[in-house]
Amino acid sequence: MSVKGAHVEPVRISTLEFQIYDIVFSKQLVALYQISYTETVVGSHADEAQWHKEAFFHGTGHCGCLQARITNPENHMVLAHQWCGSMRCATQGILNHGHLRTMCASNGHFFSPSLTIPREFAAKKSGVHQHLPIFICRARNITRHKPGGDDVYYVANDQDILPFYLAIVRRK
Ligand SMILES: [Zn+2]
Repeated sequence: MSVKGAHVEPVRISTLEFQIYDIVFSKQLVALYQISYTETVVGSHADEAQWHKEAFFHGTGHCGCLQARITNPENHMVLAHQWCGSMRCATQGILNHGHLRTMCASNGHFFSPSLTIPREFAAKKSGVHQHLPIFICRARNITRHKPGGDDVYYVANDQDILPFYLAIVRRK
């Protein structure tokens, strides 16, 4: 199964959805984009029960493009492949393809139900930029990275993780 991001659409700041995630992100949420796909992956299939109900977080880097997307975000529906158009941008890569194993260095896709490690990872990968991209994902068939270790999980297959929001948060 190949899943491609179709477009991303800002979630209005006045919505309950935005306000809930603003609290999740300790009031550091600047913009929240919902990612739509070319096909429905979760919700229309009989396998809905396999997907964990809770949200997981995946932090990554960006090329500086978040700056352009926090300016008046409420009016900007963006085609996924036109987010910034940079071939080298990790955020653009995820928007293009969802998660693709061929795009990551390790054997799986890592994420966490808590924000500490995804935030650190995003900060490291985002260099000097003041805003961090955190993808909010659904996942299934998850495995704990290190038993008894940090709260980090992974999936081995591309189709077992689906980013459904891109949160732009302030670096603390
Ligand atoms: Zn970019």
